[in-house]
Amino acid sequence: MTWKQNGIRHDTKNNRVRLSKGANHKEHPRAREYILVEYETRPGVTVENLQQVRAVYDQAKERWELHLVCKDEIETPDPPGNETAGIDLGISNFAAIAYSTEDADLYPGNRLKQDGYYFPKEIAKCDDSSSDRVTRLHKKWSERRAHFFHALAKHIVERCVEKGVGRINVGDLEGVRKDENGDSKNWGKHGNLDLHGWAFDRFTNILEYKAKVEGIEVVGVSERDTSKTCCICGKEDDSQRVERGLYVCETCNAAFNADVNGAENIRLNITESNSESAPSLGEDRSTGWLAQPGVYLYDLSGGFQPQEQVVDSKP
Ligand SMILES: [Zn+2]
Repeated sequence: MTWKQNGIRHDTKNNRVRLSKGANHKEHPRAREYILVEYETRPGVTVENLQQVRAVYDQAKERWELHLVCKDEIETPDPPGNETAGIDLGISNFAAIAYSTEDADLYPGNRLKQDGYYFPKEIAKCDDSSSDRVTRLHKKWSERRAHFFHALAKHIVERCVEKGVGRINVGDLEGVRKDENGDSKNWGKHGNLDLHGWAFDRFTNILEYKAKVEGIEVVGVSERDTSKTCCICGKEDDSQRVERGLYVCETCNAAFNADVNGAENIRLNITESNSESAPSLGEDRSTGWLAQPGVYLYDLSGGFQPQEQVVDSKP
């Protein structure tokens, strides 16, 4: 249940909120009936610019809670620098990010995937889909997902601050959801990971907010052809092979991590800069970093930790 501004009277002096009852809860539609709530805050916390009040039932604590939603204007600081980073969101790796400093980070999303297998299995074991246990499992799953998204966005923003990034290009979600023919991708094939478009939307929103606090702008750019185009020579060819997560360019005679290649194309924004010509940085760029991104695995106690370099030596 939600109260909007016209149903809320906020008494900031006495730390009180008066919530009007809906017409259907009153004796007479026009009766003056209210719920008066007094609140306490931690020292240093002021409740102001109240936008909404939500009544939320906490299953675990078996009680109702009121959530006060306030608008907080943040002063956007100057960006940490003028560099651009590119993020490719996907299924096999949740996020790949390419930096102008010629290095790249990969976030396989191991925790999300493990949960994506574990929770549906546990939920399926319950006979009654409306049981408390099922409700608890769904809640736990969604909390862990939210936690992962926040931790990932925080980690990426920290890396961007270190690297003087002022702008993050994110591949637009249209491209993530649709295959080359414009049809919705069959997510089920990938093992019921529950990584639907909304997960990417949700993550992008969190990233946008956390980046903004650091003065970094998040910009959606077209993902068209970013997986088919070589980020070094700019050659775009349907016959370019993507195997075992590797993008193989015959012109460059090189193999890159496919998601890093996509992220680098998104960073360069090849669609906008006319993909007819090669990416502006030229063919003399080093390519080793495209094959060997830093890999960050997530664990609940330590957060994101760099993994020992794994080089895929298979042909
Ligand atoms: Zn190439």
